[in-house]
Amino acid sequence: MSEFEFDKEEFKKNVVNAVKSRYRKTIDEADKQQVFQAVAYTVKDYIIDRWIATHKEFEKQDAKTVYYMSMEFLMGRALGNNMINLTCYKGVKEALDELGFDLNAIEDEEPDAALGNGGLGRLAACFLDSLSSLGYPAYGCGIRYRYGMFAQKIVDGYQKEIPDDWLRDGNPFEIKRPEYAVTVKFGGYVRSYTDADYHEHYVQEAYQSVRAVPYDLPVVGYNNNVVNTLRIWDAEPIQQFNLDEFDKGDYQKAVEQENLAKNICEVLYPCDDHYAGKELRLKQQYFFVSASVQSAVAKYKKNHDDIRKLHEKVCFQLNDTHPTVTVAELMRILMDEKGLSWDEAWGVTTKCCAYTNHTIMAEALEKWPIDLFQKLLPRIYQIIEEINRRFVNEVKRMYPDNQEKIAKMAILYDGQVKMANLAIVAGYSVNGVAALHTEILEKQELKDFYEMMPEKFNNKTNGITQRRFLLHGNPLLADWVTDKIGDGWITDLPKISGLVKYADDEKSRKEFMQIKRENKVRLAKYIKEHNDVEVNPDSIFDVQVKRLHEYKRQLLNILHVMYLYNKIKANPDMDFTPRTFIFGAKAAAGYRRAKLTIKLINSVSDVINNDKSINGKLKVVFIENYRVSNAEIIFAAADVSEQISTASKEASGTGNMKFMLNGAMTLGTMDGANVEIVKEVGEENAVIFGLSADEVIEYELNGGYNPLDIYNSDEEIRRVLNQLVDGTYSPADHELFRDLYNALLYDGVADRYFILKDFRSYAEAQEKIEAKYRDKDGWAKSVMLNTARSGKFSSDRTIEEYVRDIWHLEKVKVEL
Ligand SMILES: *Cc1c(COP(=O)(O)O)cnc(C)c1O
Repeated sequence: MSEFEFDKEEFKKNVVNAVKSRYRKTIDEADKQQVFQAVAYTVKDYIIDRWIATHKEFEKQDAKTVYYMSMEFLMGRALGNNMINLTCYKGVKEALDELGFDLNAIEDEEPDAALGNGGLGRLAACFLDSLSSLGYPAYGCGIRYRYGMFAQKIVDGYQKEIPDDWLRDGNPFEIKRPEYAVTVKFGGYVRSYTDADYHEHYVQEAYQSVRAVPYDLPVVGYNNNVVNTLRIWDAEPIQQFNLDEFDKGDYQKAVEQENLAKNICEVLYPCDDHYAGKELRLKQQYFFVSASVQSAVAKYKKNHDDIRKLHEKVCFQLNDTHPTVTVAELMRILMDEKGLSWDEAWGVTTKCCAYTNHTIMAEALEKWPIDLFQKLLPRIYQIIEEINRRFVNEVKRMYPDNQEKIAKMAILYDGQVKMANLAIVAGYSVNGVAALHTEILEKQELKDFYEMMPEKFNNKTNGITQRRFLLHGNPLLADWVTDKIGDGWITDLPKISGLVKYADDEKSRKEFMQIKRENKVRLAKYIKEHNDVEVNPDSIFDVQVKRLHEYKRQLLNILHVMYLYNKIKANPDMDFTPRTFIFGAKAAAGYRRAKLTIKLINSVSDVINNDKSINGKLKVVFIENYRVSNAEIIFAAADVSEQISTASKEASGTGNMKFMLNGAMTLGTMDGANVEIVKEVGEENAVIFGLSADEVIEYELNGGYNPLDIYNSDEEIRRVLNQLVDGTYSPADHELFRDLYNALLYDGVADRYFILKDFRSYAEAQEKIEAKYRDKDGWAKSVMLNTARSGKFSSDRTIEEYVRDIWHLEKVKVEL
């Protein structure tokens, strides 16, 4: 493939012109935001030709397309990634240097597209990058939230949520496509009638509707001219209503429709792995699903006349249960609009839809109250009722007189619509996201479904894109890797194993660790600028960045920091390798215990960082507003990757993979993809601790364990716990952290995440880390092997597996 021939002089001319025509300014008068916009529009011009050519090629080949249905796409910034994938990053950098601008500073002008919470949304973004880079036809389908994930400020140690006005300065890469707008209907009732040919018809009446308008964002493949589309939908009122034309009733309706349109895409729900049951959330789900399915069917109908063969060209992958109404919406369109019978429509639908499960946590399971659901989506509800009726009959046939099976598997039960059950019944594939997770689904959570339909179940271990998280995020290491083994790893990550042999080479180890140090200096600078804390780049950078969640156990980490601090205070001369504990995490706005944990981390940080007596041996930093753009800098600088979830709770994790790729050692439990990471890198190159998933599940079946036994018998743990409530970290209010103390010792199910149970094992693991780090050569070898053996964890591998087992797509080649 020929590299994109970048004409630097022409690029400079285009940027200068863009600044002139957009802002009536010469380039030396422009501010950085204006230069960012000009550069982005110039880059977009390169993208457009490829985008058009790609779609011409899709049409020509009549290629099957996957529609990746997701409430969340955590894209981060686009400019840097687009330049990387167009292979013009270095060219643009030089061009901007010559114009007197620093590309890094220009990139910093772009707000993150934070249309997601955490891992699930970032997975969707990595998948799009891989789909394009591998040349598979795909649409990402989602919502154009007016406000994405809130920006986090830390004020007096507390999280404060600031609205994320990411579209304020305009989004240079998006294209509004009003010509593809569709109507989405809510509420009203269903009228049915039989026509002269004895066909039943169903018509939704007295509904409210909104106009769904798509905005398309390009998803640029790496060096292959392929550009797929992320299509995100905005809602507009159906008609700018004219007062004269409406009587009073219509006036009400028109105002309501206008408000519905205003509200629907307003904001992303900031709940990660948690179901809140809000009506507006269900509206969001149906809104983007209906719009996306309508547009997929319309696109198919343009070039095909037999809707009964839709599944040959179209596949909907449901990213968790959030888009599960896809199955009922497709049934509705096929029957009510295309005239198919139930059996015909069901045959097509169950060959089009596939479901990915992301969690086994009970509080994440979506269950909508039937009355709410039926009122909002009357026709969709009817269809689900019929799916349920037929499925329950099947269960009864297979398991006569077994009420328990029905209680567990029915879609409608106990006054609720169970979305996971609907997705499993109607989908032709059900996948977990790591080997251990899929095993738990089959043996525990979804056991009954697995026994009834084992052929649907399969595993797809998550992955990450090396293009963003190494090539863009860690340019020093990326260049070094390419220097050693060539650039094949960029599109074929397993090739990075070519580095294995350099782990035994002293000079290479030195170079590798020198790059790590420079990345630590880069992060230290970021921390100084954003937190005003000085950290020592020669200390161990021990990092836990991810959503704040009890099961992820940031509390275990900070309790251990308190324990270490006690040790150092008691024994100031003890031999100790300086450590910097780095945290970054957003808590859902309404998740009180998670927010209190953030306050605790910041309070501990205040005390420790200001204690001169420990000579800077220990530092604690909470990085404000963790998001994709600063994540790239953080992963590159990490020595230790904290992956300490309660075993069985983290379905996969993807942060763990980004750390590994960037040469950090995993300190973790045998949970999610950690299991597979350890298998790839070798036990000797990671540090594992704590209960196994089986042990946790066994305890849970017996109602937990008694943490007071540990509290009473272990003096050091008792001291740490007492410090939560004796004012050590909250002198003004000794009761401030009482809730955390109670959760660990006295709650209904005390210490439900096994923090005290795993504490000693974790402390020992931390000692092992320190010992390993002291052996400089051994450490360098281990972390190099982490990078070298990360090949499995590319999202390119994950996507190839989805294609092979579920989607059955074919690659396209795009020539310009
Ligand atoms: C990768 C990533 C996540 C997921 O991290 P986990 O440790 O797997 O929970 C969350 N947020 C951002 C910004 C990420 O880049």
